[in-house]
Amino acid sequence: MSDIDVDHFRALLEARRIELRALSDAAKDSRKPVELDQQSVGRLSRQDALQQQAMAKAQDARRVNELRKIEAALSRIDEGEYGYCAECGEAIAPKRLQVDLTATRCAACAA
Ligand SMILES: [Zn+2]
Repeated sequence: MSDIDVDHFRALLEARRIELRALSDAAKDSRKPVELDQQSVGRLSRQDALQQQAMAKAQDARRVNELRKIEAALSRIDEGEYGYCAECGEAIAPKRLQVDLTATRCAACAA
């Protein structure tokens, strides 16, 4: 048995999931297609807008990726596998999980 407090990590994972979903909702506006009307938007500000949109997309991709890892961690909790290294099966140090809630490998295997 692992000595980690699974409920504690489940609560942290669920809180992070809520936070990510809220951020994603808040970012929806910035992902709208860039307005291509050259008369109302100057060339430079259009480039700015495109750049901002690209950044917003990259951020969104990172959020989606993190959400996926969180979902996977939550199902590992349900299956009683959370906190164990996917490679060697040893318990992952709680300190490591605190830093990365979705860690799937122990420090030795990740290195
Ligand atoms: Zn390991």
